[in-house]
Amino acid sequence: MNPRSIRFRLAAYQVCLLAGVLLAFSLAAFWGFRRHLTHSVEAQCANLTRQIAESLLSNVHVSGIDYLRDEVQEHYDPETNNLFVRIVQPNGTVVYESGEPHDRSFSPPQMSFLPNLKENRVEVDANNQRLVFIRPYILSQGESYQIQMVASLRPVQASLQGLWQVEVLLFPFALLISASGSAVLVSRSLNPIRQVIATARKINSGNLRQRLVETSSGDEIQKLTRTLNQMLDRLEASFKQMIQFTADASHELRTPLTVIRGNLELILWNKAALDSYPRTAEVQETLAQTLEEAERLSKTVSQLMELTQLDSGEIQLEHEVFDLTELVATTADQMKLLAEDKQIQLETQLSPQVKTQGDRYRLKQVLLNLIDNAIKYCPAGTRIQIRLVPADSGCVLEVKDNGPGIPRGELQRLFDRFYRIDKARSREIGGSGLGLSICKSICEGHGGRIEAESDLGQGSIFRVTLPPATNPTLRRKETQ
Ligand code: ADP
Repeated sequence: MNPRSIRFRLAAYQVCLLAGVLLAFSLAAFWGFRRHLTHSVEAQCANLTRQIAESLLSNVHVSGIDYLRDEVQEHYDPETNNLFVRIVQPNGTVVYESGEPHDRSFSPPQMSFLPNLKENRVEVDANNQRLVFIRPYILSQGESYQIQMVASLRPVQASLQGLWQVEVLLFPFALLISASGSAVLVSRSLNPIRQVIATARKINSGNLRQRLVETSSGDEIQKLTRTLNQMLDRLEASFKQMIQFTADASHELRTPLTVIRGNLELILWNKAALDSYPRTAEVQETLAQTLEEAERLSKTVSQLMELTQLDSGEIQLEHEVFDLTELVATTADQMKLLAEDKQIQLETQLSPQVKTQGDRYRLKQVLLNLIDNAIKYCPAGTRIQIRLVPADSGCVLEVKDNGPGIPRGELQRLFDRFYRIDKARSREIGGSGLGLSICKSICEGHGGRIEAESDLGQGSIFRVTLPPATNPTLRRKETQ
């Protein structure tokens, strides 16, 4: 058995505990039993000496000393009963003295009359061999006597020895039964854990769908399996996300690379066109397209890097307190020209001096991306409204358009990496599907959130909620 296993340790604790309890219990029982037996002997001596005093000694003047001696001898027969009786007077006169006990279990002590003894006195000798009981007795005439009775404690010792033997014999048996019993019980109660271990061993990246069997016992094991299953859920989700992300990223990078490669091959094969000067319009156009794809590729790669750095905390966000109203106003001004080029009206509705705490540059990036998306995806003649208001929980920044809108069912995945509603169109416009993921990372890095409200044909609202100026979440991120 493995001494470090829970089974061994629990069984060992149990046995130690039981050994302690048994030992304490045995000692208490031994002590209590001895006390009880000694008290019985004492009570017997008290009873006998009282009888001798009250029925014989009280009449000694009438009946005479000889009568007293005969009566004690006849009725109490001390030697046969393994007792010793002596009756003494203050002047040392021994009125009566029995012989030694038949079983020779003790030798009678030499005791004279104890002066000033008012109460009964009980003494047990050091090696628990005999109990000495002395009863003082004064006759109505004023004469004092002391009845000394000595009883053997050998029967007490014999009983105690018997008890001790039983205890010593039972002790190892009790421990053995307890050890094996608790080993079986512990082993049984650990069975579900063994099953958990066996199933958990089988789970790997290839079968992350498998779950541990949850019992409805309501105990810690059920809690453990539930927690592990929840952890597996999260692992599976992030694993799926990772696979999806790798697939999306390779797909995104492959398309421009294929175009670049195709174009370059085309130009190489069209050697005549390449050698002639000036270059033909066809070659010029192919080269321009290649450059465009290369730019798209480099934009996607730098956005991907930016996302990774934001997520890993490599990009440290500033946490200055600044006027967000001013930042939104200047950014909107900058984007106005772009919007007007597309005949889109850009309006602002900004509460004055809304302060926030964070990274000016990154928050501007969020706003630019939202306005840029609105301009990109809305047709001419539409309107973009930017609204900034303080709120109980900080401030709210909205970019609203009355463009094509986004199907309600797509809203949930809108902030996922590489997610685009209309891939072909978005690509045509120059989108990579990473802009909103970057916005989400930045907002969450500020302790805020971003959400979208939209439906097909209803326009879209992108809402950024930022926490109030002194934000502990942000500070925590910075100190990491
Ligand atoms: P992209 O670089 O493709 O614009 P984003 O992450 O910024 O990537 O946006 C993801 C997708 O969300 C876009 O491809 C587009 O389909 C949709 N989208 C974003 N903003 C709007 C908007 N204002 N109106 C309609 N669709 C939008």
